[in-house]
Amino acid sequence: MYHSVGDRTDDPYRLTVTPDRLDAQLGWLRRRGLRGVSVAELLAARARGEGRGLVGLTFDDGYADFVEHALPRLRHWGCEATLFVLPGRLGGDNAWDPLGPRKPLLTADGIRHAAAEGVEIGSHGLTHVDLTKTDDAALKAETSESRALLSELISAPVTGFCYPYGTVDARAADAVRAAGYTYACAIAPGPLTGPHALPRVHVGQRDTAVRLLLKTRLHRLRRRPATGV
Ligand SMILES: [Zn+2]
Repeated sequence: MYHSVGDRTDDPYRLTVTPDRLDAQLGWLRRRGLRGVSVAELLAARARGEGRGLVGLTFDDGYADFVEHALPRLRHWGCEATLFVLPGRLGGDNAWDPLGPRKPLLTADGIRHAAAEGVEIGSHGLTHVDLTKTDDAALKAETSESRALLSELISAPVTGFCYPYGTVDARAADAVRAAGYTYACAIAPGPLTGPHALPRVHVGQRDTAVRLLLKTRLHRLRRRPATGV
């Protein structure tokens, strides 16, 4: 789980990795015989029994720096990824983070460009609200309407959703399923773990080889759904 790729002199939420660090992390994956793919591709490959050696790479929020800094590195290493964007904030910024710094989000053209380059475009909701705290009307708009807007924007079906802040409960997962998404990414969904609440691991600037190795092992344990509860 990545967010922004670029300058990180002011990064209170630790959302940013530098282009050089992303480059090193993707190189690390490739040297271990692993390849980054979109979540849709990862799930499709697993369904065919061919998921071995694949790692889903996700970039949340749809920062403009994705096209400038992440895309060239992904191409260089022969990797693909999923970009979760906010159709209610096209060309806007991360106004939902109270501390800032403000980072520009992709415009509609930027998202279309990423899609044309083979990036899977998924929905991160409309405006980045916590779905576990919304009323029914907002929940429907954040899930259904965002999917319709994005499908129209990229002229292709949108099958993936990503919960803002990674927060999910049964009601939010039901809304995402009802909106027609085939999968949704969370962070640590615990007993809700399943196609509509996929766990992910945060990857940040401090993640060099040793930490990445520990995280892959930890993720294998965490992604097992809880049983008997
Ligand atoms: Zn987000």
